[in-house]
Amino acid sequence: MTDTISAEVELGGIDPAGARIDPDSLRDVLAECDPAPLLMSLVHLTGDTALLDEFGSRLEYSRPGTHYGTPSPNALPAGQYPQDVADDIRARALEILTGSDLATQLEVPAPDLFAAMARVATSQEVDEEFIPLLREQAGFVTDERHVPVTVPPPADFEVIVIGAGITGINAAIKLGQAGFSYTVFESRDEIGGTWTRNTYPGAAVDTPSHYYSYSFELNPNWSRYYPTGPEYQKYLLDVVAKHELREHIRLETAVQSMTWSEKDQIWDVVTRDRSGAVEHHRAKAVISALGMLNSANIPDVPGLDTFGGRVVHTAEWDADVDVTGKRVVVLGTGCTSVQVVASIVDKVSALDVVVRTPHWIVPERTVVHEVPAGQRWALEHLPFYNQWFRLRSYWFASDNLYRLPRVDPEWAASHFSASAENDMVLKNAQKYLRDSFPDRPDLIEKLTPDFRPYAKRIVKDPGFYAALRRDHVSLHRASFERVTPDGVHTTTGEFIPADVIILATGFTLDFTTTIDIVGRDGQKLADVWKGGEDPRAYKGVQVSGFPNLFVTSGPNSAPNHGAGHNITSEEQVHYVVECLQYLLEHDHASMDVRPEVLDEYNAEVDKALDETVWVHTGGPVNSYYRNSSGRAIVPCPWRLVDYWTMMREPDAEDMTFVSGTGAPAEVAR
Ligand code: NAP
Repeated sequence: MTDTISAEVELGGIDPAGARIDPDSLRDVLAECDPAPLLMSLVHLTGDTALLDEFGSRLEYSRPGTHYGTPSPNALPAGQYPQDVADDIRARALEILTGSDLATQLEVPAPDLFAAMARVATSQEVDEEFIPLLREQAGFVTDERHVPVTVPPPADFEVIVIGAGITGINAAIKLGQAGFSYTVFESRDEIGGTWTRNTYPGAAVDTPSHYYSYSFELNPNWSRYYPTGPEYQKYLLDVVAKHELREHIRLETAVQSMTWSEKDQIWDVVTRDRSGAVEHHRAKAVISALGMLNSANIPDVPGLDTFGGRVVHTAEWDADVDVTGKRVVVLGTGCTSVQVVASIVDKVSALDVVVRTPHWIVPERTVVHEVPAGQRWALEHLPFYNQWFRLRSYWFASDNLYRLPRVDPEWAASHFSASAENDMVLKNAQKYLRDSFPDRPDLIEKLTPDFRPYAKRIVKDPGFYAALRRDHVSLHRASFERVTPDGVHTTTGEFIPADVIILATGFTLDFTTTIDIVGRDGQKLADVWKGGEDPRAYKGVQVSGFPNLFVTSGPNSAPNHGAGHNITSEEQVHYVVECLQYLLEHDHASMDVRPEVLDEYNAEVDKALDETVWVHTGGPVNSYYRNSSGRAIVPCPWRLVDYWTMMREPDAEDMTFVSGTGAPAEVAR
């Protein structure tokens, strides 16, 4: 058996050494595998597509988006195979993997077969429009170039990338593969962005990383379904090492300003390094990859600087902070706070959580679970198991959830929730709250939000509610009124003695406005975006008057209904490379989005957002999703498949160009 598998696996390019496993162990391993990707892997290994009919005919198929929350007693959660089917697949796998007549179908299946496999793999109807996205995002193929590539980038076509986080790394890889010269400037002393900053206790990814990782750099070895910050940071550094990016990255070098020269069709970029040395760089194009949640939001609380113990914001964590045996106060209840609280509860002598506004919190079965050994073996060794596992992970967390934040006016007229789908989330969160605190109606009341689910990011519980049940933990529905040397006075008149104050108070939203960006005619991006209060971009990436500037993670491009930042990052980087290649192919020096197109695009964005809970929150909401006048400036209103499709290549009719000779250029498609 082992030789056969080894031989076949070798054909798939996977290290065969680890695939050597005796039949008894294999039985145990298979018990821990997911039957759906296992079945798909068997199809690849045998080339026997009849397996799809044999097992697929025993499944029930649903339309995407019709499952969420707690299923009715007899219904299976979306995508879960019935037990008897799962058992039979595992038995067949044992037979096949210990047999000797394996044929191989190790190449990526053609779209028709892929579609048939995706349907059985998800037990949902997978419409044709999703297939190209799924092939790419599940990691079967890398993103395909759309603009014909006939002109190689000249050596003097320098691109500057600002920021070496998940998007900056991605940009570096794709620019390099496309042949562009580039430099990445990173103000911090390490690569990794968010994961170098957020080193607080319990920091973890709250999106499954079998999906929340580069589609072109799958990692079969995640130790947990939701890995810790350090594990994620290691993944990023491994990718950087593999692609030999370090020589292109200038650490401890902050971009301070950039000015567009119309005469030279170039960005003059000014950097300052740690020693204070200022340098000018010339770039044909600039990609800002700063993310949007960079600046720690430090609340303006009287007396905070008089506190006798330690005050630390989660995004500015200091490894010296030791909470062991201390009285700790945590302010905030977002994704960060729940991770901190769950992580430190066993160490501290007293823990007081101060909640100004509760968030909707849902249980997530696998949020702190390790990936079982059998599952990891399959992810690493069975051909395409990893890709099918990722496909399912993406599928059930992406456009399947598109309806959840959308308002059904008829439903909303008579319900607190926004729609029947939104109501399922509400019911799920309410049930979790009731089940968590059966004897504590006071806590249920304090922890019940008064806005609709999804108006703020849904929080997945890593153990927050369990921590709140502990004897040495108290919850205060209040805020800080003032801080004195020995503790915190709350707005409800309580005094909490403390040794350590942890501010889990999130970030101030910032789309690049900390850099002095001066575009055409001397206009500043910060002014155009009204100091960051009203940022608007075309496809979330381009702003009129700022040629060849590409803002990633820009306004209205976050997939807040589902999936993760990684897909946006890949879509935007793909789009930028296509734009740059378009310039080369047409001998253009620059492209700029037409102002009327920018306005039309944003009118459509606003219209679509007006049908969501991000605008119609149902109650008072403080959220970085919205500006002070209530306009949603972060969420992308489109389905992921629509945004992915619109980002395949630039639409020349939406742009103005300047030719290589400096003259306005005709639009050429
Ligand atoms: P957040 O969601 O903005 O939550 C901040 C919390 O602090 C809220 O409860 C807020 O209360 C409270 N707060 C802020 N200012 C306050 C003040 N002056 N007084 C009292 N309370 C105050 O921030 P976060 O939890 O850091 O999460 C931010 C984002 O980071 C998340 O949405 C997520 O996208 C990301 N994140 C990701 C992960 C991951 O695993 N990938 C982990 C953590 C965070 P109000 O609601 O009353 O304003």
